[in-house]
Amino acid sequence: MRKILRINLDNQTSELESMPADYAKLGGRGLSSTIISREVPPKADPLGKDNKIVLAPGILAGTKVTCTGRLSIGMKSPLTNTVKEANAGGELANQIAKLGIHAVIIEGTASSPTLLKIGNKGVEFESAENLKGVGTYECLEILKKQFGDKCGVISIGPAGEMKLKAAAIAVSTKDEHLRFAARGGVGAVMGAKNLKAVIVDEKGSKAVEVADKKALNESAKALSKGILSHPLSEGLKALGSPLLVNMIDSMGALSTKNFSQGRFDKANDISGETLVGLTSTRPNSKPAHACMTGCVIQCSNVLTDEKGELICSSIEFETLGLLGSNCLIDDVEKVAELNRVCNDLGLDTMDVGGALGVAMDEGVIPWGDADAALALLNEIPDGGEKGVMIGHGAQFTGEKLGAKRVPTVKGQALAAYDPRALKGTGTTYATATMGADHTCGNALPSPTMPDYSPVSPTGQADISRFLQGYFAAVDSLGLCLFASLPLLDIPEVKQHLIDCTAAVLGEELSEQYIEELGGEVVKAERGFNLSAGFTKIDDRLPDFFTKEVLPGLDTTFDVSEDDLDSVHA
Ligand code: SF4
Repeated sequence: MRKILRINLDNQTSELESMPADYAKLGGRGLSSTIISREVPPKADPLGKDNKIVLAPGILAGTKVTCTGRLSIGMKSPLTNTVKEANAGGELANQIAKLGIHAVIIEGTASSPTLLKIGNKGVEFESAENLKGVGTYECLEILKKQFGDKCGVISIGPAGEMKLKAAAIAVSTKDEHLRFAARGGVGAVMGAKNLKAVIVDEKGSKAVEVADKKALNESAKALSKGILSHPLSEGLKALGSPLLVNMIDSMGALSTKNFSQGRFDKANDISGETLVGLTSTRPNSKPAHACMTGCVIQCSNVLTDEKGELICSSIEFETLGLLGSNCLIDDVEKVAELNRVCNDLGLDTMDVGGALGVAMDEGVIPWGDADAALALLNEIPDGGEKGVMIGHGAQFTGEKLGAKRVPTVKGQALAAYDPRALKGTGTTYATATMGADHTCGNALPSPTMPDYSPVSPTGQADISRFLQGYFAAVDSLGLCLFASLPLLDIPEVKQHLIDCTAAVLGEELSEQYIEELGGEVVKAERGFNLSAGFTKIDDRLPDFFTKEVLPGLDTTFDVSEDDLDSVHA
């Protein structure tokens, strides 16, 4: 039976607790959001002592089911003030699950910079004074040397230590790259707790418990085959998520010039095609890379410089859209450089891209000036006022500059899809439990839904509601979003996922399992937010999207307020 590991930073104690019966069927986001809803006062100060951090592997973590090693990191967000779950690939979820741990709950505040080591022998507390101000890349190197190559590392950079509202948490991969639980300022909560890093040592761990191994083997194989049969998987393997740059641009939906346009005339220069061309010329670069063991898609990439030194891995569509087209930066290498600096500081590239777009709109630095953007980011460790403003994200930057066009909902920057061109996604931005978050329900058109119009003002609430439940379940299973998309189009493949879950849990699950699980998770999150004081007035897009016409598509965001209110009615 897996356990809950509770760690108290106030008095440096830890305890393995039996799991409440109703936690046994939860994992990932479902478990982290349930724990936060029950244990954190909804009106708590996110950076205060009452907030907690939950590290929760998904229900299928550590098994042979492909792409199920995403780690959910839950807390109350200092950026949105809502419940928050940010998840990341890498190896940590599998490593925690193999230690027999269902979730780690971290509470209290350390009196000085601290790191935790979690292993078979329990929890050790060590000083992290030597890592103060150290960037995430160097931090990983130092900790791997200290604790061994096989250890997993969760860490924050200077941004988290400075409690910046766009601070992210870095999660290591097996081959020593970094992935990020980026959204919602989760790194600032680690910083507020004086927690620089968590080391997970899986030495001596066992295979995770599976109720029916034979059934799991069969269903897991069928699931992998089904995922790979979808054309999207082939596209992602070839170009990664940057595949979306040209695709979304051609739909007129690419965030451009602080969301004043939906097309970028230099989109191809920052596209997946251009990136793959570049990786083919660089030593040690890889156009395809698996961020976790057993991934059959391998959508990640590794970009190096001319000498073969790592710039960053993986550069994603959202980064290209927000640090690129949204800022009119058309040089993919400059975007990669900005990505590298954000990673090292431990910052969310999306909220930083949103903030830079607002700053450029307000004349702080010129449009398209990547070097000026880099200079702003590089002044953050020394506390430069403008750099720190950007590090607090788009909402803070907009307020500080008195800007009228600030693309955020509940304080969090929009992803790189314009909500006027993708109104289902816009409905999700407005109503999701975590602020503007495309991963909560991105309503992209699909050949299997020929009648769906992404620009229609009607019908978007139903699709957003369905997707919000679906992705809440996906996040609870620990499944990668990219692996989950084929399941929306091919019902038999979705059934293989349900069969995998049934084999792991050892119980029969209905055909509606995914919808039912997701519905429960969203309900718990929504309940927390309502108790925190959120109302339907908070479920709105910024005014300018309802007033300014998007060039090219000649439309505003015109989904009615009644429809928005119906999403969670
Ligand atoms: S598809 Fe991409 S993001 Fe998902 S697990 Fe594989 S490499 Fe990671």
